[in-house]
Amino acid sequence: MRHFIHHRFCLSLVTMALLGFVVLVAVQSTRANPGLAIVQDDQRDQELLRSRYPAARADKTIFSPLDLPTPNRMRTASGLPGEDYWQQQVDYRIEVSLDVEIESVTATAHVTYTNNSPQDLPYLWISLEQNLFRPDSDGSRFAPPGSRFDNRPGFEGGIDIGYVRTGDTNLKLAIHDTVGRIDLAEPVRAKGGTTEFDISWSFRIPDYGADRMGIRRCEQGNIYQLAQWFPAVCKFDDVHGWNTLPYLGQGEFFTDFGSYDVKITAPRGHVVCATGVLRNAEEVLSEKQLRRLIQANTSRQTVMIRSAREIGTEAAAKPGEGPLTWHFQADKVRTFAWTSSDATIWDAASVIQEDGKTTLVQSVYPTESRTAWRESTQMLKHSIEHYNKKWFPYPYPTATNVSGIVGGMEYPMIIFCMEDTDPEGLHMVTSHEIGHNWFPMVVNTDERRAAWMDEGFNTFMNSYDRYDIYEAEVNGGEMPDEDTGFNARNMARLMSRPNVQPLALPADQIHPDWLGMLAYYKTATAMQMLREVVLGPDRFDPAFREYIRAWAFKSPQPADFFRCMENGTGTELAWYWRGWFLENIPLDQAIVDVDQSIASGLARITIANHREMVMPVSLEIEFTNGETLEHKLPVHVWYYTNLWTADVEIGDRTIQQVVIDPNRVMPDLNRRNNKWTAPKKKDAAAGPDDGSKQDGDGNDNGDGNSP
Ligand SMILES: [Zn+2]
Repeated sequence: MRHFIHHRFCLSLVTMALLGFVVLVAVQSTRANPGLAIVQDDQRDQELLRSRYPAARADKTIFSPLDLPTPNRMRTASGLPGEDYWQQQVDYRIEVSLDVEIESVTATAHVTYTNNSPQDLPYLWISLEQNLFRPDSDGSRFAPPGSRFDNRPGFEGGIDIGYVRTGDTNLKLAIHDTVGRIDLAEPVRAKGGTTEFDISWSFRIPDYGADRMGIRRCEQGNIYQLAQWFPAVCKFDDVHGWNTLPYLGQGEFFTDFGSYDVKITAPRGHVVCATGVLRNAEEVLSEKQLRRLIQANTSRQTVMIRSAREIGTEAAAKPGEGPLTWHFQADKVRTFAWTSSDATIWDAASVIQEDGKTTLVQSVYPTESRTAWRESTQMLKHSIEHYNKKWFPYPYPTATNVSGIVGGMEYPMIIFCMEDTDPEGLHMVTSHEIGHNWFPMVVNTDERRAAWMDEGFNTFMNSYDRYDIYEAEVNGGEMPDEDTGFNARNMARLMSRPNVQPLALPADQIHPDWLGMLAYYKTATAMQMLREVVLGPDRFDPAFREYIRAWAFKSPQPADFFRCMENGTGTELAWYWRGWFLENIPLDQAIVDVDQSIASGLARITIANHREMVMPVSLEIEFTNGETLEHKLPVHVWYYTNLWTADVEIGDRTIQQVVIDPNRVMPDLNRRNNKWTAPKKKDAAAGPDDGSKQDGDGNDNGDGNSP
């Protein structure tokens, strides 16, 4: 899902929020303890030592191991799936027809459910996500009116189930809002047992389907985007049993892998694209279109399959009468989405994978989107090639970008993006939505419980794709990327706000105002900081690639990710997971004192950690002769104290100034205490620490004024 607020708006929102915050904190800190603004004297040092930060938790510190589930033979202590790992398989054979007169779909499915779990299952839960669009649904009443995921404008939708049966036996289906329970005639047996059932349904297509589906009205026709449109069996797993969190809007979906064989009947003149491979191109395309499609299959350049000029003419479709049935097939996917339109231009090219397999990359878009979309297929191709090279090869035979009513949403092999005019904007949203094919389409995580594991990891990947496209430096001056809203300053502000939630909450439990900052940007920043600052790419990349490889087509939990990264990098990171993922706490590193009178050739630098978060320390020492020295301290210096003294050998040089976090990469709440400057010598007798002071200039984070 796209983070809906455009990044420039996003920045200004943060700025406005910050202004309010500055005032608030300034007032509070003045009231509470006006003398604590800057650390300068012994008494203050003693206070620091007594008021230990990071504050102790009941029986632990920020460094203590996390309370993770006990490892077992399914989910191991190393974070990799174990020898007893199992997951369910759900295969669908669906026939669906699109009726454009009454704007509805009618469908039947034959579902085969394979129970690989160690227990018999007497019932199945299914997701009925179209019920979100009933005016009385929980989601309709939960969403702020007119908001992104609201059922607007009070659309009377919902799914009508015709029958549910196995052979001639009708099965009982109890519907509760967006989920339903099917009681089976016989329990489906453990360890490989299967059950099959048939189900029929229909629903009216909402114009605005909570930014996941719907209809875009264009000059030359309509674009129908269909997603979360069929009764999908809920995921049954070893952690929660049946995953039946309702569909309320912010939480996307969580399902098992399966194969899909789907026949879509649509009016002649429509182009239909979907998850999977088109199996009967010769039956639904004109000879010319077929020839062009075959050409696109081996072409790196974009090939036009249906041009703007052909739309609405005889050349738009295969000659003949009546509707056409498009047959798609997909394996190892966690859902199936599709689009159908009489208004779309269609072009395609291909990506050749390292193993020689090709992926057909295509775009469908209306004439009014051409300004940005003429480049869509090449953008899609670029992003796939980038992610292939950097993380894991795209495993699917097709990838389709669809312009429609949906702002930004991802499904396996097909993504919905909206941006008519700004090519760079379209590039960003395309890179993001196709990136979701890595998280969570391949690494299948629970989007309703852990949005950060798909949105955040994906946003992290997107930033490198973006740097690659626009040839920007990953760590050019200030990290991460200022332009996308997740830089160090924004993070510092976010992490100091007392009412902001931790990011690792279920999607629907996160305040809508914070979803973007937490699940997307804070997670992405945390990943980037871990890679660039804490571990370095040499240590981070093999571990993260191993996480993707080991969990591809499986379902990791947050604990598996934490363990996978700790094992793969050989680093204990409980402090990092707490600081960035599990709690919302601020960071304030400071220089307390620099003393060059201890011994010849030695400087004693005292630093402090004023707030709850801990990070490693980077010091830049500048000498009077113009030389500089970088001095790094591991995060371990905060193990048992918040006031650390580092002895640094400086030879016969004299220190002019010391700066903590010189590259300004840390989300440091208060930069006013980050610099120490040598006092101006009034007479030769004055000691080097006399009147030494922290310097207030160059501050851009001085709003925090933390104690
Ligand atoms: Zn997303």
